[in-house]
Amino acid sequence: MSKNIKLVHPRDQITEIISRIYRRGMTTTSGGNISMIDQNGDIWVTPSAIDKGSLRASDIICVKRDGTIVGKHKPSSEFPFHKAIYEARPDIKSVIHAHPPALVSFSIVRQIPNTNIISQAKHICGPIGYASYRLPGSNDLGDVIAEEFKKGHKAVIMENHGIVLGGSNLTDAYERFEALEFCARTILYGSQIGTPKYLTDEQINEFESQARGVLPEMESVSYSSDEVEKRLEICNIVQRSCQQGLMISSYGTVSMRWNNNDFLITPTNINRWDIDLDDIVQIKDGHRETGKTPSRAAWIHQEIYKRNPKVNSIIMTQSPYLMAFGVTGEYLNVRTIPESWIFLQDINMVEYGTHFRKNKNSDIVDNCATALIVKNDSIIITGDKLLQTFDYLEVAEFSAKSIVLGNSLGEMVPINDEQVEDLRKKFLS
Ligand SMILES: [Zn+2]
Repeated sequence: MSKNIKLVHPRDQITEIISRIYRRGMTTTSGGNISMIDQNGDIWVTPSAIDKGSLRASDIICVKRDGTIVGKHKPSSEFPFHKAIYEARPDIKSVIHAHPPALVSFSIVRQIPNTNIISQAKHICGPIGYASYRLPGSNDLGDVIAEEFKKGHKAVIMENHGIVLGGSNLTDAYERFEALEFCARTILYGSQIGTPKYLTDEQINEFESQARGVLPEMESVSYSSDEVEKRLEICNIVQRSCQQGLMISSYGTVSMRWNNNDFLITPTNINRWDIDLDDIVQIKDGHRETGKTPSRAAWIHQEIYKRNPKVNSIIMTQSPYLMAFGVTGEYLNVRTIPESWIFLQDINMVEYGTHFRKNKNSDIVDNCATALIVKNDSIIITGDKLLQTFDYLEVAEFSAKSIVLGNSLGEMVPINDEQVEDLRKKFLS
């Protein structure tokens, strides 16, 4: 979807996001609904009981300010609470409601996920409200939800039902939805292998106050064909990571070495799903491309490239099963199957905050391993070709998933030292 969403019709925005939510396993065919309110006060909303997997722009309904319904279906049965939210909160222009599995887990045990589990989520989600159970589709349900939004919340857990989120636009609401479901998944998976540990508000504030764009700007920029090719490669991998559930809108940095220590890197503050060629930032001779702000983590990428000549691409991201280890501090033993150990060797973990620029952590930049977990923050994967680095990320996430799932069956039996030695001789020397 174009970043300039003001130029994308509400119908097209809604169909794009609902299909993204469906493909990412965050709604069923029948469940969930999305709406947007436009400048006229007309509300665009998904239809009732239409397949979410094949929704078209022409299926979207418009409920006019005066109540007239335009469209070929009935509006969503949950339209009353969408309307109640817009009436309660004029700053909210879009609403998403769904029954994503991890957040429903919280809803049915009547808990609210603590967003201090990862660095950026508290800032994106804000405080989370809680609306008690009411009959679906009723005005009563609209009232209890609107009450929570009136308190200033933009995300509300619906008791024994699901989640509802608001945003200043649809992208903003989606980003909040995705981050909150990610927190819920991470806490759930983490709880299967250990005890999740949460960041303090001070640690989160420190993350938010990190300097951005500290590199000086270039005087003039040139774009060679190999540079443009790398931009395309980065965009493709970012898109693929989002689609495969290995990256969310609000977090993740991908870079590729270009010439010597010059590199190309993703920007800060742009929704990862929508990153385009001209968003990628060129870093040359320690200068950033004019008018663009590279990721806050650009300094880590820069130092890794300087000190590790064999590293030609880096992915820094959050994926749910790897973060289960990152938030519990449990050791991720990749001596699970030969492939995992051959690709990743042993994965280290560093404390939260050691990845901030001021700490110049040598475990990250000097002893740069193929995969490294930064507690409550991210996984950093390095490699030669970008596709290979992406594959390492997938292998790491799969390994983490197998361990989390296997944990309920019994204790993992790792490949022994002798077997690892044989792997080393055959595949790594
Ligand atoms: Zn519902």
